[in-house]
Amino acid sequence: MENKGENILLDIENLKVIYKTDLETVEAVNDVSLAVRRGRTLGLVGETGAGKTTTALSILRLLPSTTGRILSGKIEFNGEDLLKIDENMMRVIRGNRIAMVFQDPMTSLNPVMTVGDQIAEAIELHNGKMPKEEIDRRVENILQMVGIIPQRRFEYPHQFSGGMKQRVVIAIALSCEPELLIADEPTTALDVTIQAQVLNMIKELRDRLGTAMLLITHDLGIVAQICDDVAVMYAGEVIESGSVEDVFTGDARHPYTAGLFNSLPDLHSQAKRLKPIPGLMPDPSNLPPGCVFAPRCESRMDACEAHRPKTVQRGSHRLRCHLFGAGQAPAVGGQGR
Ligand code: SF4
Repeated sequence: MENKGENILLDIENLKVIYKTDLETVEAVNDVSLAVRRGRTLGLVGETGAGKTTTALSILRLLPSTTGRILSGKIEFNGEDLLKIDENMMRVIRGNRIAMVFQDPMTSLNPVMTVGDQIAEAIELHNGKMPKEEIDRRVENILQMVGIIPQRRFEYPHQFSGGMKQRVVIAIALSCEPELLIADEPTTALDVTIQAQVLNMIKELRDRLGTAMLLITHDLGIVAQICDDVAVMYAGEVIESGSVEDVFTGDARHPYTAGLFNSLPDLHSQAKRLKPIPGLMPDPSNLPPGCVFAPRCESRMDACEAHRPKTVQRGSHRLRCHLFGAGQAPAVGGQGR
């Protein structure tokens, strides 16, 4: 990953988010820093509950209003801190300049409106008084772009398969040509073969439109396929980040990331069994005082349980682990960029 200031579109620094109820306080995102470069794709990887979606919802300021709270940090988009602008400005940015695609297309589509009308509505909403002919032309173009014949604009969501529905959702998200697309597990709900088609389509569109993307996934295979950079989240923290090359083939690897790789099937290996990471992610309402991965880590040392590791930088590669501490590489504040 490039250093700060070099073509960074989205720059998150030391973000801390909690969910607070009468019963408990959940530390969902802890001191997270990451950056998305213009026109590039950052894969945000981790297990369910690692804080990936909370990070995405914080960018759009869409956390549940009764429980979610951003305690500190900044989220700069094109140099402007999204946490400091008013709700009217934020509404302009949402959908127009930053769009989001969710896992389940049915939660995003209106079942009683034709898909063409839904795309037209998104275009109208973000473009004021555009002539009807121009809107119609754009609806047809965007449908073609996501591989749907324009005549299907008069059909309803239930007439489309899961993969086609997700194409429609992506069409709506891209209809306003956002600078940043946040895609939260966009293919998880789809069959494997359809997943590949939709991923290829996302990749092509990104290349054609030059849209930057934050791709949330638990699948390292998807990261290898379409991401430029990757940040690995665990228990609310970014524990490793860098270019895909740094993280996939570099000489240093965080024990958690190593565990993720070991739990992948390897077609070339003779091993008959996968090696899952033993144990569970810690309770986010009761995080351990030291390294959050310590209870599951095979490389655990005494210091790990007592002290939270600082992020260490090796070129563009960042690791948050005592194995890569003082004496081996310079420690830096924050993490994940
Ligand atoms: Fe394992 Fe210690 Fe590194 Fe945490 S800091 S990942 S416990 S070696």
